[in-house]
Amino acid sequence: MSIDVTVRGAGIFGLSVAWACVRRGARVRVVDPRGVAAGASGGIVGALAPHVPERWNAKKAFQLESLSMAEGWWAEVAATGGGDPGYGRTGRLQPVAEGGEALARARAATAADLWGDVATWAVEDAPAGWSPATPTGLVIRDTLSARLHPRRACAALADAIRARGGAIAAEAPDAGAVVHATGWRGLAEIGAGRPAGVPVKGQAALLRLADAPPRDAPQLFAAALHVIPHADGTVAVGSTSERDFDHGEPDAQLDDVVARAVAAVPALAGAEVVERWAGLRPRARSRAPMLGAWPGRAGHWVANGGFKIGFGMAPKVGEVVADLVLEGRDAVPDGFRVEDSL
Ligand SMILES: Cc1cc2nc3c(=O)[nH]c(=O)nc-3n(C[C@H](O)[C@H](O)[C@H](O)COP(=O)(O)OP(=O)(O)OC[C@H]3O[C@@H](n4cnc5c(N)ncnc54)[C@H](O)[C@@H]3O)c2cc1C
Repeated sequence: MSIDVTVRGAGIFGLSVAWACVRRGARVRVVDPRGVAAGASGGIVGALAPHVPERWNAKKAFQLESLSMAEGWWAEVAATGGGDPGYGRTGRLQPVAEGGEALARARAATAADLWGDVATWAVEDAPAGWSPATPTGLVIRDTLSARLHPRRACAALADAIRARGGAIAAEAPDAGAVVHATGWRGLAEIGAGRPAGVPVKGQAALLRLADAPPRDAPQLFAAALHVIPHADGTVAVGSTSERDFDHGEPDAQLDDVVARAVAAVPALAGAEVVERWAGLRPRARSRAPMLGAWPGRAGHWVANGGFKIGFGMAPKVGEVVADLVLEGRDAVPDGFRVEDSL
């Protein structure tokens, strides 16, 4: 088969670009010697959550668009390939800290301006049962946040790509336009002498509770941790953020994450840890996604720098890179270009 686009890297960025390209009729081959979701994308957390609604910038606008297109995008992935990404727009609760009510209410007003009718950010009384502990009795509830299961979402994307005639291979030569979505390993290669970014290790755990939260329970953000009830009744908690690390495996820092999560969310007491997981996030120098032409390498493109929000950004990243590669249309926002990290 002749190939229009080769995508190097079968993580969430590579698969999202490949999916956006096959949907537009391109002949696509994804190449990854380690297989689908073997890198940072093979995890278990899957918070698709917005930044705070203030100091608006290109990154937040891009993220808002990506989060709001996610529901339809993942539904099409599931319908095409038959896999289940575990997507649910179930919202998020965060405790309001002592003295934090005025800021929380100000953010509610800002969100009303910036988010329009896409979603709300409201301050309300904490619900009984599935809630973070809150000293004020108040929580912030946003209706933009969603969750998915990262590893399964990647498998579902791979199924959808194959169902539309795309190929996924361990090895193959470059053919057509080449998109490098190679995660933390790729950041050093792109930088040529000075890395375009660094790996940042993260660790997370998957818990099983005697009383599973309801299937549509909101995710929680408390004690700087994501607590994500998945569609199958398990609950993910994470994550660490480690610039300095000796190895990429889970270690004792994860025990601390679990202990902090249990302290912040009473419903987690006594939960069984069913999986411990660690991955290396690709953090570009700009801290933003790195999208666009590889400078000085005609026909080669980059989709990298997902860092902590790669899954939230993925639908929009896929479409913007497909715009560039297939249609020559440049919708990459300022601050997201490859040059911004060189
Ligand atoms: C603990 C943890 C929790 C996280 N939680 C969230 C969250 O809640 N929400 C969220 O949105 N994001 C989250 N993230 C971040 C998210 O996982 C990353 O942003 C995302 O996975 C990055 O995807 P990627 O495709 O760029 O990289 P990767 O998934 O690392 O994929 C890169 C792929 O490229 C392949 N590769 C490398 N070199 C080559 C080559 N030369 N040729 C071919 N293939 C190659 C690798 O084998 C790998 O499979 C979390 C990350 C961690 C570690």
